[in-house]
Amino acid sequence: MPMKTVRLPSGETVPALGLGTWMMGDDQSRRAEEIAALRRGLDLGMTLIDTAEMYGEGASERLVGEAIAGRRDDVFLVSKVYPHNASKAGTVAACERSLKRLGTDRLDLYLLHWRGKYPLAETVEAFEGLKAAGKIRHWGVSNLDSDDMDELLAVPGGEAVAANQVLYNLSRRGIEWDLLPSLQRRGIPVMAYSPVEQAKLLRERRLAALAADHGASIAQLALAFVLDRDGVIAIPKAGRAAHVEDNAGSLDVVVTDELRASLDALFPPPRRATPLEMI
Ligand code: NAP
Repeated sequence: MPMKTVRLPSGETVPALGLGTWMMGDDQSRRAEEIAALRRGLDLGMTLIDTAEMYGEGASERLVGEAIAGRRDDVFLVSKVYPHNASKAGTVAACERSLKRLGTDRLDLYLLHWRGKYPLAETVEAFEGLKAAGKIRHWGVSNLDSDDMDELLAVPGGEAVAANQVLYNLSRRGIEWDLLPSLQRRGIPVMAYSPVEQAKLLRERRLAALAADHGASIAQLALAFVLDRDGVIAIPKAGRAAHVEDNAGSLDVVVTDELRASLDALFPPPRRATPLEMI
């Protein structure tokens, strides 16, 4: 199945199905298996990798660096700055540390992990400086709700935001009320994190029967639901190659109107505005 792609505001396209890495690199005994899982994902076209300075306090970035060694140019590499580092100078210093751990000279996308004490305008200025210096190619945000996005778009340079990474899966559909439609209207991609609700959805008996009816695994059904939305990128984390292969199979699931209706019946869409949830 060819990889579905999502268009960034710049016009560049990225894979709609990527690889999350939270908690990878934490357990030495699993290191080789996790690196093999990421490399299997790259082989299958899941060439967008999401990491953060927060994950294992650098351990995830070091593991990703090892996994992409020799194939950096095939990867769209995403990392994130801690809010407490997101001052003008702090963002630049944090980026330099991330680049070192990742063994690369540039990030493809650098995100503010969540909103903290530094004004958005200051972080944006730092991001734009990093872009001008060639250290990052694009910047974006994470965990920003609709009012935060409006504020961001009003600061100088804010309209260059390339993505908003937020919690989105079958059991967390709140963004469908207003955040997702407003980002879609503006052409700003959503990166859906925890797309299988940290494996909790995979234990949902209600989904098991529906998945079986469609010849899919529960993970494939849950990911197909997310990927069915315009402008949405899913970044499941899988530390085992077999799980990565299973997730890649989500691209084969045909989401019909009937399947959409069945999923809506099990996990209803929002009926009112709710604050953005975070994990
Ligand atoms: P997730 O991707 O929803 O779930 C990961 C869990 O699901 C792991 O235990 C994994 O097991 C399991 N899994 C994945 N595919 C599977 C399959 N096909 N069959 C069986 N089990 C499967 O949760 P997440 O890690 O929280 O979210 C994904 C990524 O989003 C993170 O890794 C991180 O990169 C990003 N994230 C960002 C934020 C933010 O604030 N911006 C917050 C949370 C997450 P194995 O590892 O054993 O394969």
